[in-house]
Amino acid sequence: MTDFARTRALFHIPEGVIYLDGNSLGPLPIAAAERVSNMLTAEWGELLIRGWNTAGWFVQPRKLGDRIGRLIGAEQGSVMVGDTLSIKVYQALASALDLNPGRRIVLSDSGNFPSDLYMAQGLIASLGRGHELKIVAPEAVEDAIDGSVAAILLTEVDYRTGRLHDMKRLTAKAHAAGALAIWDLAHSAGALEVDVAGANADFAVGCTYKYLNAGPGAPAFIYVAPRHAATARPALSGWMGHAAPFAFDLDYRAGSGIERMRVGTPPVIAMAALDAALDAWEGVSLADVRQQSIRLADLFVELVEAGCPDLALASPRDGSVRGSQVSFRHPQGYAIMQALITRGVIGDFRAPDAIRFGFTPLYIGEAEVRGAARILAEIIGGRLWDEPRFRQKALVT
Ligand SMILES: *Cc1c(COP(=O)(O)O)cnc(C)c1O
Repeated sequence: MTDFARTRALFHIPEGVIYLDGNSLGPLPIAAAERVSNMLTAEWGELLIRGWNTAGWFVQPRKLGDRIGRLIGAEQGSVMVGDTLSIKVYQALASALDLNPGRRIVLSDSGNFPSDLYMAQGLIASLGRGHELKIVAPEAVEDAIDGSVAAILLTEVDYRTGRLHDMKRLTAKAHAAGALAIWDLAHSAGALEVDVAGANADFAVGCTYKYLNAGPGAPAFIYVAPRHAATARPALSGWMGHAAPFAFDLDYRAGSGIERMRVGTPPVIAMAALDAALDAWEGVSLADVRQQSIRLADLFVELVEAGCPDLALASPRDGSVRGSQVSFRHPQGYAIMQALITRGVIGDFRAPDAIRFGFTPLYIGEAEVRGAARILAEIIGGRLWDEPRFRQKALVT
């Protein structure tokens, strides 16, 4: 059994805060502060340009890719770190459409995170080859997979409700119909047991600042199934993904395998934080994380439903088809969340009316769940959210 008391001690949680927003931005791993500081002074400061070789900055994206790969069931050498998730979505989709040239439909669902849909729309417009993004309800995805679909582009866990897609089943259905499957693991990596190889995914992408706790703006990752790694054409053909970046050839030649998914200079400072953050997963079983997160979320649902009859559960009740987060709807959701935050319970709000709470067993336990449910009941029971200051919309919700 994973020792969650040990993992909890690895994170800095501010005094008086119950942090239920690790699904948006994981907290600071204490070791990351020192690692980044060391990177700045001992590596950048002392080594200067030599750090690319002597401190291993150049090979770091792939090494970190392999570390993440172990958390998502990827084969060795099939994951690359870099850029942002939106960019990795673009890369994966561009490669998939190239690998399936006879098809024109990109299938996604209305529960997908908008950036994934926007990137698909942008790519389709740039390609100008008559592709079409088809967006159906999450429950309608399976039936919409037919012989016209080039690729399915789905996020395993719905960012708003936590509803979970069956990755293995939908991938099998896509393959049977001659389509490729791209999975966004933004709300899965570090939250659930993921097995991209076992599910036979063609591509997968994700970010590292949510459940992987690597900090704001931390780099993303991309998985390419080994069967495609030598043939996938990188649409973002930057010099770092070239077969010989330092030959400075005038023409692009894709690097071998996953190397071609690099684009430009990697964010070395941010990678130091990611490396330290990944240390927290040593000795952690994702099966334990999953089991515990379901237990905590179930408890929260039970306590909130008992204490706050005005709130409507927006997430699946059955933990086995829900990711690591729970949402409730209320017309005044935004103000309720602001009031909660002033009381030290940090979750977030997703338009139009969802308040969202993430359950991350690495640093959250039953005491926090009970505390958060009690404070939420006080705020709703006493209408403590009903103040003008709680209705002021901030830039980031
Ligand atoms: C968080 C998230 C993003 C964010 O993309 P960035 O490029 O990192 O800003 C994209 N897609 C999904 C599914 C997400 O959950």
